[in-house]
This record gives sequence, C-alpha cells and structure tokens, in this order.
Amino acid sequence: MVDLLHLVNSTAMMAMIALIYGIVQRRAWAKPLRHGLLGATFGLGAVFSMLQPLYDHAGTIADARTLFLGFAGAFLGPVGAIVALLVGTAGRLVIGANQSAAMGILAMALAGTFGLLWIPVRRWLDLNGVAGMLLLGSMISLALAALFFVPLSPDVAPRTGLISLLAGYNLAGSLILGGLLHRERRIATREREALHSAATDPLTGLLNRRSFEDRYRAADDRPGSRGTSLLLVDLDHFKSINDTFGHSAGDEILRIAAQKLKAEVRDCDSVLRIGGEEFAVLLPDTPAADAERVGERLCLAMRLSCAVEGAGTISITASIGGTWCRRKSADLARLSRAADEALYAAKRQGRNRAVFHRNTLT
Ligand code: GH3
Ligand code: MG
Ligand code: MG
Repeated sequence: MVDLLHLVNSTAMMAMIALIYGIVQRRAWAKPLRHGLLGATFGLGAVFSMLQPLYDHAGTIADARTLFLGFAGAFLGPVGAIVALLVGTAGRLVIGANQSAAMGILAMALAGTFGLLWIPVRRWLDLNGVAGMLLLGSMISLALAALFFVPLSPDVAPRTGLISLLAGYNLAGSLILGGLLHRERRIATREREALHSAATDPLTGLLNRRSFEDRYRAADDRPGSRGTSLLLVDLDHFKSINDTFGHSAGDEILRIAAQKLKAEVRDCDSVLRIGGEEFAVLLPDTPAADAERVGERLCLAMRLSCAVEGAGTISITASIGGTWCRRKSADLARLSRAADEALYAAKRQGRNRAVFHRNTLT
C-alpha cells in the first residue's frame, strides 16, 4: 500500500517532467541546449526520488533514480544522459558520500547507458507502445546489478527483495513516464506539422503568404543589415499557358519555376508563393545594387523550356519587379507596393525583364 502511494506520488513528478519536456521540445533552441536542459530536469527527478526513497535503512537507500537516468538516455540521447548523470551524482554526494553512494552512481551510469542502448534494441526488435516501454523498464532494471556490490548490514532487507522492488517500480514507472512523454511528443509533432502545413503551399512546397510578414520582420531585424530587398516574380501570360496546355500542365510549370527560383538564391533568402503565378523573393542584408543583379539573374533563369508530360515542351518567361529598403525604414506593405510598381513597369515595358526601383524607399 505504501509502495502504491509512493508510485502515485511519483506520478505527479513524472507528469511535471513530461510537461517540461513538452515545453522545452517546442522551443526553437539548438538540440544540445534542449537536451542539456531536459537532462538536468531528469537528473533532478532522480535527486527528488533519492530524497523520497522507497527504502531507507542503515545508510542504504533504494529509490527510482535509475528510471530517470534510463529515460534521459532513451529520450534525450548522450547529451541528456550525461547532464542527468552529473546532476544525479551531485545530488547523491550531497545526500551522503559512502560506498553505497558509489554503487548508486554506478547504477545511474549503467541505467543511462541502457537507456541509450534501448533506442537501437527497440528498433531491432520492432517494439512499440507498451511493449517498447516494458523493454525500456527491463533494460533499465539491468542497471540494478550494481546493487549486488553494495555492502549491506545484516539488518537491511534482503538484496533480492530490494532489487525486485526497484525492478517492479521501473516497469510501472516506464509505462507511466513513457506514456506521458510519448503523449507530449505526439502533441508537439502534430503542432509542428499543423504549423508547417499552414505556412506551406501544397503545390510547390514553398512558403505561402502567411509567412511573408514573419520572414520580412526577421530580415529587417538583422543587426548590421545593409537593408532588405524584395523581388516579385510574376510568370508572363500564364493564363494562356493554362488555356493552351491545360491546368495540370500549368501546375507542373509552377512547380518547376518554384524549384528554379529556390535553386538560384542563397539559403538565407526566402522564396514564397504569394499568389497564383506570383512569387516573392526576400533577400536579407542585400543592398540595392546586389539585388538588382539577382533580379537580372532570376529573369534569365526563368526563361525556361519545361518538359511537361502530355504537353511537350512549354517555354515560359517571367517579369520581375524589385525594390530595396534601409533597415527599419519601411513596413512590408510599403515595400510590396514599391516592388509591385516595378513589376507593373516590367509588364508595361513588354514583360520578360526585371525592373528595379532604386531609391524608392530610403
Ligand atoms: P501577365 O503576363 O500579365 O502576368 O498575364 P497572366 O496571364 O500571367 O496573368 P493573369 O493574372 O491574367 O492570370 C494568371 C493566371 O494564373 C490565371 C490563373 O488561372 C492562373 N493560376 C493561378 N493559380 C494557379 C494554379 O494554382 N495553377 C494553375 N495551373 N494556374 C493558376
Ligand atoms: Mg502573370
Ligand atoms: Mg499575376
């Protein structure tokens, strides 16, 4: 009964750890930072379980620390496991540095290692869900072998009794903590997918208009930026391409044009599909003269002969309007209006060309 209450009590801590896991994993921080922070959290889980042991007698404490270390290895990889071990070790030494502490630290190191090994073993055995978690609980329990080397005074409970108590705890804890962490992971993945699909154009895979403002703000916020340039790319006479070759040929051309634009610019630039046959290319930290050259290059690159299945070879061109603004000098609406004017000028002058409005916005 006492053990059951203990498990219920620990479940609250596991739920808290899972909650922190969900919050941290949603952040756009670098992976080592996320895993390091979460490793510290799992390590603290181990320390808390030491402070609230399942068994505490004559300097020997038995608790669920291996569970947290095993999960750090399994869910956070080497960085998380090492940080969790450091925190757990510090906690154990503060509680009391004796030989039993050394074995406890060894058990934590083993549990972290078995947690890391669980990843390939689970994949190899193709175990998911409950079976996968029971495998993790069993592997973590292998770390309890360290307890065979702890010198026990005669009035301490039998070693095998302690080990089976902890192994049972590991199995039950694995199901609970594993279930909670999987749930957080599932929700975070769904959230990421929903955000991604809301920001992506399904036809071309490019970002859509929803990301335009964010991308512009990120470009404009760059410290020391030499200004942001915007190029609007509009395919020429696209309606007649659709009318002549059919809508699906038109779709294929949009896909080809999108890939071509992406291939022509730097990784830090953003290519978005902001309308039917209209694309925006945002160039962060790019002065007007450079952007004008990029516009010319893109115009050349968009003189394409596209091989479209069922329609033969279709030639296209594009008109491009561009503009530039100094850092923190214009909002996206103003920048877009200026680029749009340049695009109309390109269309008026006969299409298949790039027009750049210099000094429109300063
Ligand atoms: P201009 O040279 O002046 O830009 O002429 P245009 O024909 O390209 O421009 P207009 O705005 O008259 O027509 C754009 C066409 O793009 C009309 C529309 O059917 C087509 N379009 C818009 N979205 C899609 C799409 O997702 N797939 C296909 N295949 N066509 C599209
Ligand atoms: Mg057009
Ligand atoms: Mg258009």
